[in-house]
Amino acid sequence: MSSLRTEGLTKSFGGVLAVDGVTVELRDGAINGLIGPNGSGKTTFFNIVTGMIRPDAGRVLYRDREITRHAPHRIAHAGIGRTFQLCRVFPRLTVLENMLVAVRRTRLRELMAGLRDAGETERARHWLRRMGIEHLEEAEARDLSYGQQKLLELAAVLMAEPDLVLLDEPAGGVNPALIDRITGLVRDLNAEGRTFLVVEHNMDMVMGMCDHVIVFDRGAPIAEGPPSAVREDPRVLEAYLGV
Ligand code: ADP
Repeated sequence: MSSLRTEGLTKSFGGVLAVDGVTVELRDGAINGLIGPNGSGKTTFFNIVTGMIRPDAGRVLYRDREITRHAPHRIAHAGIGRTFQLCRVFPRLTVLENMLVAVRRTRLRELMAGLRDAGETERARHWLRRMGIEHLEEAEARDLSYGQQKLLELAAVLMAEPDLVLLDEPAGGVNPALIDRITGLVRDLNAEGRTFLVVEHNMDMVMGMCDHVIVFDRGAPIAEGPPSAVREDPRVLEAYLGV
C-alpha cells in the first residue's frame, strides 16, 4: 500500500498551468523531499493534496483511498497533517491553547458536541516537550520567536497524530541551530513511523535529511531518486540553472 499517490493531477490559474498532469508516489515510511525552482508548482501541489485547492483534473489517493476534492478537515482526519510556509498560529492564544484548538479543528464532530477529552492537555504537553517549548505553555503565541512558533505549529500538527506530515519550507526564516533541531525532530518522528513530504529551498537540509527527492519543473516531476542521484541529474541542473 502506498502512502500518497497522485494520478494526472492538473491545475491551472487563468492561463498558467501550475500543476501539469502530476503522477507521483511517495515512499511510504520515508522522508520525501519536493524541490524545484520558484513557480514550479510545489505549493499548488501541496494545496491540492491537503484539500485547499481543487484540481481541474486527476486524483489524489491516500493509502489507496481517494481523497480528491475532500475538505481539508476530512483530509486531516484521514491522517495527513501539514505546516505552512508562513507559519500559522493563533497569536493571541497561549501555546497550550493553540495545541488544544489544533486537535479540535480536526475533530469537528466532537467540537460540535462540546466534548472534552481529558487526555488532550497531557498529549499537548507531551508534544510541547518533544519540541522543547514546554516552558512556554502559558505564553501567548505572538510572544514566541519565529522559530518557536514554527515548533509550535509542528507540535499542533502532531496533535492530530498524522501518519503523513507535509512540511512547507520548515527551514524558511529560521537560524542554522534551529534548522538542525528541526532536522533532528523530523528524523526522530520519521523513525517512529511517520512519512514526510518536505518542500524546502535549503538544499543542505533537503540533501542531508531526505531519503527520496522529487524534482518539479514547470508543474511536473522531471526527476526523482535518492539525494545523491538527484543532485547530479543533468535535468535537475538544467532546471535550476535555467539553461
Ligand atoms: P512553487 O511553490 O513551486 O513556487 P506555485 O505552486 O506557487 O510554485 O506556483 C506555480 C505557478 O502557478 C506559478 O506560475 C504561480 O505564479 C502560479 N500560481 C500559483 N497560485 C496562483 C494563484 N492563486 N493565482 C494565479 N496564479 C497562481
